Amino acid sequence: MKIKPKSIVIVGGGTAGWMAVNSLLSSWRDTVKITLVESKDIGIIGVGEGSTPYLKQYFSSLGIKESEWMPACDATYKAGISFPDWSTKAGYESYFHPFFSKLDLKPADLFFHNSGLRRRGVKVDALPNHYFVSSQLIELNKSPVPKIDLPFDVDYGYHFDSAKLGRFLKERALKLGLTHVIGNVASVETSVDGHITAVNVEAQQSLNADFFIDCSGFKGLLVNETLGLSFCSYKDSLFNDAAVAIPTNLASHTEVPAQTVSRALTNGWSWKIPLTSRWGNGYVFSSDFISPDSAETELRAHLGLLDADIEARHLKMRVGRLNQHWHKNCLAVGLSQGFIEPLEATALMLIQFTIERFISSFEDESKSDELTKADYNKDLNKTFDGVRDYIVAHYKLNSRNDSTYWQACREDARTPDSLANLITIWDNGGDFESALKQQQDSLIYLRPSWYCLFSGMGRFPSTSIEDTQSVPAYRAKEYCQKIAKKYFISHQTQLEKIYQN
Ligand SMILES: Cc1cc2nc3c(=O)[nH]c(=O)nc-3n(C[C@H](O)[C@H](O)[C@H](O)COP(=O)(O)OP(=O)(O)OC[C@H]3O[C@@H](n4cnc5c(N)ncnc54)[C@H](O)[C@@H]3O)c2cc1C
Repeated sequence: MKIKPKSIVIVGGGTAGWMAVNSLLSSWRDTVKITLVESKDIGIIGVGEGSTPYLKQYFSSLGIKESEWMPACDATYKAGISFPDWSTKAGYESYFHPFFSKLDLKPADLFFHNSGLRRRGVKVDALPNHYFVSSQLIELNKSPVPKIDLPFDVDYGYHFDSAKLGRFLKERALKLGLTHVIGNVASVETSVDGHITAVNVEAQQSLNADFFIDCSGFKGLLVNETLGLSFCSYKDSLFNDAAVAIPTNLASHTEVPAQTVSRALTNGWSWKIPLTSRWGNGYVFSSDFISPDSAETELRAHLGLLDADIEARHLKMRVGRLNQHWHKNCLAVGLSQGFIEPLEATALMLIQFTIERFISSFEDESKSDELTKADYNKDLNKTFDGVRDYIVAHYKLNSRNDSTYWQACREDARTPDSLANLITIWDNGGDFESALKQQQDSLIYLRPSWYCLFSGMGRFPSTSIEDTQSVPAYRAKEYCQKIAKKYFISHQTQLEKIYQN
């Protein structure tokens, strides 16, 4: 039988640590004592400014309103991600990956239909931008928050300042009774059976607990350096292992868009994230193909900052995941447990899933401790691998020929089996719907996302026959525009509403 921990020590005060502590205090506040130790010398990674719609549930599960946290974190709304320059196919040079809702049902059906026709060589439009409301919200500079209550949820995400998000969550946790220690963990003690018993903080006390959570970032102080847990690298499928970040000012009166832009560059891709206080910019690249200095120069040129005196931050990334996220009395959360490059901004979603799934593991008290951990680790691995497959697909489907990097991503990167199957079926005109259904257990991304990616990249036969019978795309676009105008207000007005509350 499992017993909930009565005392927990969390090592690390990055976004992972603060998200974990808030969820735990929300669920187990009356029965657990939590201590979080963080080092001021080491600091946090300080990037991670975009989310999936899953973050909306995080705040609502904690009972935190947008008007409380968004102004504190310079946050904006996110209706999806644009992917310019990943494809060189005419008409498909840029596509939008939208967040969906039931408002999309009608036009999206036409999109799936047209994608099917286009795969069979019929000359119809199948660019996702024309068939989803979110995409029209961006064209019209609107927010993805409906202005009236609809009888269903409309998915959207956020952009935010990660350091400010950490501070906001920290204040909240302190009010709920967290014990906060500032100092460097210098050593970790374990028992003969491999359980962690204490972390020793330099020139301070030892912190004992019956459970430990490793939120110490890429180094994995507990799971890697102490327990030596095995790591499953994704490097053979995903070549990017570094990033350079350069924030820029927001000109006054700029109306920020509710989207992230992920633009392909020569040896990776750049992100552009709108906050109310600044732009977050960066370049994710592979150091096997371009040096950090050259990547910085390329990003500066791209941002028009070649002569500007703005400091750049260089980061290394360890891409992959642990095989066991929960081992003995230790759980890894955040970068310590693994990382998939931030192309679809999935890391906070994985943090949230890791901690929520951990808490719910204690609901079935009759399940043995060992079986609980085995099931948990299996689920986490499946989730990480499912996200990886969707990210890898972007690289496999790219059609750039301007560098060996893009060619290698397409031809040399390992394609996970489940993804290879989807690509083969799509290319051969096979039953893509059935393939998605058959693999639904391992695919984290849903049907619309897969269609948007394949069609958005223009992955179709190069020759096509004239269309005689399909519904023209402009009808779908008109429909989406009408919905966008009817139910949504401008992004700027929505932000003002939330910020003034
Ligand atoms: C380039 C890049 C872009 C990203 N973009 C996104 C994005 O758009 N969306 C998204 O969801 N995620 C993104 N991420 C991931 C996201 O930044 C992280 O998942 C998130 O910030 C959580 O980090 P963390 O808390 O695990 O680690 P960190 O922020 O590194 O925190 C580690 C903590 O451990 C502490 N620590 C370390 N060693 C010790 C010690 N010895 N003693 C005491 N304390 C210690 C540190 O002081 C710090 O407080 C991105 C990551 C990268 C690299």
